[in-house]
Amino acid sequence: GVPEVPARPIAERRLSRQIHVGPVAVGGGAPVSVQSMTTTRTSDIGATLQQIAELTASGCEIVRVACPTQDDADALATIARKSQIPVIADIHFQPKYVFAAIEAGCAAVRVNPGNIKKFDDQVKEIARAAKDHGTPIRIGVNAGSLDKRLLQKYGRATPEALVESALWEASLFEEHDFRDIKISVKHNDPVVMIEAYKQLAAQCDYPLHLGVTEAGPAFQGTIKSAVAFGALLSQGIGDTIRVSLSAPPAEEVKVGLQILEALNLKQRRLEIVSCPSCGRAQVDVYKLADEVTAGLTGMEVPLRVAVMGCVVNGPGEAREADLGVASGNGKGQIFVKGEVIKTVPESKIVETLIEEAMKIAEQMEQDGTAS
Ligand code: SF4
Repeated sequence: GVPEVPARPIAERRLSRQIHVGPVAVGGGAPVSVQSMTTTRTSDIGATLQQIAELTASGCEIVRVACPTQDDADALATIARKSQIPVIADIHFQPKYVFAAIEAGCAAVRVNPGNIKKFDDQVKEIARAAKDHGTPIRIGVNAGSLDKRLLQKYGRATPEALVESALWEASLFEEHDFRDIKISVKHNDPVVMIEAYKQLAAQCDYPLHLGVTEAGPAFQGTIKSAVAFGALLSQGIGDTIRVSLSAPPAEEVKVGLQILEALNLKQRRLEIVSCPSCGRAQVDVYKLADEVTAGLTGMEVPLRVAVMGCVVNGPGEAREADLGVASGNGKGQIFVKGEVIKTVPESKIVETLIEEAMKIAEQMEQDGTAS
């Protein structure tokens, strides 16, 4: 068979301080975690917990809930206690909800320095409460709600302005000896966002939460996030990520996990290596790839399955994968771990691949090679 080659790391990670969001370590070399945010009214505890359960099932590791009203604040304790993953309360405008979230046992609190009025006066009390409860704070700067003072100074939300806002806020906490902090400096333009995070990474050692804010509908947002996170993570920058999409939050998690898998920052699970097809294809590659993907979805083992349209690159790729097919002349050569195990008629390719995948998965589980 093919010798196991360990996945190549994308880059040496930037050395950041480590914080703990509940049981999830963020920074300090901990695996990059994937977050999302609920879209339910937080005060609707049942609906919120239901969505958190769905997010947990999709692989989400940390969840954030909005807290715009007292009813939402009142719901936090139950949500934090019943959620399977750590809950971060997202607070704008009202410092009193920061205290409520800390008291409620939230795993962390996100504050937006641009939106919290008179926030600076209360940093001392917030720092004390957060320290007493061991609650980390995310300083979440957002281009759309940049501090007025900095907007005047820079004219718009430049990378420098975003970074200055974040570090200024951090310095207020540092004055009270509070450093249990992670930072985000989000912008909807990946180019500005990348530059902001690069500057921020160079100027502090706090763990960084990456996000392209208001990235857009699923397709555009996926591309923007993948490009921006890829640029930063390939330089070792970023400790936790949130993909923002105008789409259900489980979609954000799916995209986030795929980005980390593509960068070898998470073990790849099912990976379909399929060719784009071309004039040489002797089989409908799109249909075949879709059918194989559908048939294997939900498999938790790291399996690389090659679906190739013809014999040009077909046998080579199929051989490199755990399992593969190279089509030709109305038939498919099925490869397992580099060996042709059989040749089947085109109509049997999908079922044969699924059958063989199940066998390999079972074997991996027995050998303990599955994650
Ligand atoms: Fe074309 Fe064959 Fe390459 Fe697929 S494997 S893109 S069909 S040459």
